[in-house]
Amino acid sequence: MEDLKFGNMPKLYNSEWDKNIVVAVIDESDYQYQTMVPLFNEYGYGFVLPEQKLIFIDGSYDAVHQKLVEAHEVAHIILGHKQKENPMDEIEADRLAYHLLDGKGYLQSKQLLVDVFKERHGIEFK
Ligand SMILES: [Zn+2]
Repeated sequence: MEDLKFGNMPKLYNSEWDKNIVVAVIDESDYQYQTMVPLFNEYGYGFVLPEQKLIFIDGSYDAVHQKLVEAHEVAHIILGHKQKENPMDEIEADRLAYHLLDGKGYLQSKQLLVDVFKERHGIEFK
């Protein structure tokens, strides 16, 4: 029998790059998902509240994607970026995310980052 209580809980964990950062993965099974959709649409697959060290990830994408998003948002926190997005911050965050993913052996997520980099930023990854 399905436990509806747990079925509606967001998946929460501490980031492996920094245990003080909490990651919440939210998908269609969570009652919060519909309220989060406009935010995911605005910011992409995830976003971060840097002051709260809290990352929200759209759980409707696969694990490779989710780990890339987590590394990207962790990078924003490490780099001290403010919540407002700007193009240079996004490039910097992706460059650091590349090294974070590499350091933990997430080779598929790292490759995905390189594959979408030009589309995201309009320049080649280097
Ligand atoms: Zn970003």
